[in-house]
Amino acid sequence: MDDYSGHYCLMCPGPVNVSQRVMQAMIGSEIGHREIEFSALLENIRRNCLKIMNLPETSYAMVVITGSGSAANEAVICSAIQPDDVVLSLATGEFGRRLGDISKIYNPNTVIHAQEWGTPLDLAWVEDYLRTHRVDWVTMVHNETCTGELQPVREVGALCKKYGAKLFVDAVSSFMADPLDLVDCNVTFMSTSSGKAIGMAPGLSLVVGKIDAFEALTHYPVRNYYLSLARHYDFFVNKRQTPNTPAIALFIALNEALRMILEEGIQERLAFQAQKAAQFRNGICSLGLSLLHPDHVLSNAVSTVILPEHTGFSELREALRSRNFIVYGGKGPLMDKVFQVSTMGHVDLNDVNALIDALRDILADHLHSVA
Ligand SMILES: *Cc1c(COP(=O)(O)O)cnc(C)c1O
Repeated sequence: MDDYSGHYCLMCPGPVNVSQRVMQAMIGSEIGHREIEFSALLENIRRNCLKIMNLPETSYAMVVITGSGSAANEAVICSAIQPDDVVLSLATGEFGRRLGDISKIYNPNTVIHAQEWGTPLDLAWVEDYLRTHRVDWVTMVHNETCTGELQPVREVGALCKKYGAKLFVDAVSSFMADPLDLVDCNVTFMSTSSGKAIGMAPGLSLVVGKIDAFEALTHYPVRNYYLSLARHYDFFVNKRQTPNTPAIALFIALNEALRMILEEGIQERLAFQAQKAAQFRNGICSLGLSLLHPDHVLSNAVSTVILPEHTGFSELREALRSRNFIVYGGKGPLMDKVFQVSTMGHVDLNDVNALIDALRDILADHLHSVA
């Protein structure tokens, strides 16, 4: 294969389809990152991002790191959490677990609270643990992408406040799909990435957090040079630059994607994500298929559907791929039990309907071949 171009309808939980306007922004992006144009661009991104999140500029800051969402997660964990801090990592699934795995590399005092995927977080256990143990940081995921279930950030944030712990939330797959108020939820740092519900290409990750917490980093030892949040913050605040050569074209496109969200309206964008998710879920039910845990608190970013009987995921994946749709299979214990469909990014209600129609065709063909 020597043609790598594609025009798939990406209905997988990242990467997502990108609008023409954002794509166009990347073209003609020949500016230097040590020049005033780049500094102005960074300042715009900062201002618009805080505006979108409804955060006061006097007490919240953000940095953009070149790298996928995991870069932001590792940057926070290696920079904000000190070697002798105690970390309680709420492993609600694959992505919660990864935060714990990163934390273990930098912090021997990491306790991973693992629970069965798709079971709601046991808040009574969390409270009991915080009451009876010293915990400096709690890490958790907002939308546990592997199940598409939202986690109780507000409740955990309140417990952190009560017992004096700081909270780091991975909102990579929920930002701009599900509302999250960092002030209300008592979140110290939050991470997200360009390539999910922001509707941009992958390659940039964002860390948003309290200015006090960013400032405190400057007193800590640097434990990872490239991903040092302190260095990113220092360059951002003092020079409006990045420590190393950034993915300039992606920064320009991110700026455009954030502008589009503001033009459309934040509530409108969130409502549209909710509408697309609801339309897909209704469609799934009309086909006689079932969602995994429809009674749990589901994210508007991704839907997890139980595979129809006698259908392997690879078969379904290929049938959808040949109709131009990309979806993902289940991970870990959900492998070959579910498939996952995301309605994030530049897809509209027609695309959602087209996917449901494609699934209807595939199921009919399949029944035919089984009969
Ligand atoms: C996508 C995702 C990430 C980041 O994964 P990358 O492979 O680094 O893009 C992190 N956390 C969650 C919850 C995600 O959905």
